[in-house]
Amino acid sequence: MQLDIHTLLVAVALASAFSAAARILLWRMHPAMPGPAHWALAGILAPVALVLIISHRALPEQLSLSLAQVVISVAFVLVWEGFRRFLGRGSLTRPVLVVLAIATLVPIVIAHGMQSVPLRSVSNALVIAAVSALIARELLSGSTQGRYAMQATGWVYAVNAVFFFARAIAAAQAEIPVSPLNPDGLAAVPTLWWLCMTLATTLGMVLMTGERLQSNLDWQANRDPLTSALNRRAFSLIAAREIGRARRHGQPLSLLMMDLDHFKQINDYLGHSSGDAILCRFVATAERVLRSEDVFCRFGGEEFVALLPSTAAGPALIAAERIRAAFAADAATVLIAPQPFDTTVSIGVAELQPGEDLDALLHRADAALYRAKAKGRNRCELAADKDERMGNANTWDTVSQHVH
Ligand code: GH3
Ligand code: MG
Ligand code: MG
Repeated sequence: MQLDIHTLLVAVALASAFSAAARILLWRMHPAMPGPAHWALAGILAPVALVLIISHRALPEQLSLSLAQVVISVAFVLVWEGFRRFLGRGSLTRPVLVVLAIATLVPIVIAHGMQSVPLRSVSNALVIAAVSALIARELLSGSTQGRYAMQATGWVYAVNAVFFFARAIAAAQAEIPVSPLNPDGLAAVPTLWWLCMTLATTLGMVLMTGERLQSNLDWQANRDPLTSALNRRAFSLIAAREIGRARRHGQPLSLLMMDLDHFKQINDYLGHSSGDAILCRFVATAERVLRSEDVFCRFGGEEFVALLPSTAAGPALIAAERIRAAFAADAATVLIAPQPFDTTVSIGVAELQPGEDLDALLHRADAALYRAKAKGRNRCELAADKDERMGNANTWDTVSQHVH
């Protein structure tokens, strides 16, 4: 097989143009998302660099190649900046940009003066290798779990860093490496590489954007917008899974039903936005006390539930008491005529009984909560093993009516 450089150049020109168009489209589709604007600008610079390289016989050769090198470095830095913004990591700092500018420009000026092709090739390859490695580190560090597009794009840049590092070594030894794939001694392999990278990185950006949108949608579908706690829909799915697991493994499982005390009065006296702030503070307190495997949810209004896997009634009551005490210690004293009182929570605790489903468990925890309210609030009560309230209110709707 022989790689024909002219055909490759046409292919890379077309691929660069299509990639630039795709990145511009991505940016236009998501104008508010940080990242795509920088990727689009970099995408536009790639064909510009290619035109400069192809036209190097028409223009003064050293000038067009030097310009192309600057344009390529700027494009890589723009991509890096785009990824940083996309990941919410802030802009590149001025010292980093200054170092990159020096690393790019100084060898170019020297190579330009000396008319040295190897120096130009080595420095160009090293800058691209370094920025690619930094982009790879950016994408592969931190939480990458489930972010397949981000991981794949990170590896594309890691491989690119290795390729350009190897190219820098090769370029230091010979002006243009000749290989069986590259019999003309022209830069066929790097051109083919450029073609692949253009397509792979643009595809990576598109997939990463899709992945981000999907995770945003998942978040919105599963979370309460005020407190960011899980919503009832997400809770019911996770709880059904946890109950099934507890039953299969013969493990205990408990549920806490929590309701803030006198919340209506708090709203009436302090206003709705202060009420909202107290709800958020309760969520922060409860999530701090609970373990990461516990499932905490805003059940509605000022009611919350927590499912505690592998936890029997005794330890669950201790956890409930810790939430109650932490909130009472942390919460505001509100002046409600004729005297001040503290914002507090009442909690009902129930352990899953054999053959019981989620509705029945919720119902028993709700009955215990009702008892905590009746006994004066700001306390935790353990549910009886059997349903302590009459009636057959074993549905979510009726449970929720009791709590409201
Ligand atoms: P109890 O101690 O018996 O639970 O009394 P309570 O006043 O807390 O109970 P009630 O069910 O009468 O009132 C609940 C209040 O919670 C009424 C409602 O306006 C308020 N509420 C529900 N959702 C929100 C919300 O998102 N933000 C704010 N600020 N208030 C809310
Ligand atoms: Mg209440
Ligand atoms: Mg309530």
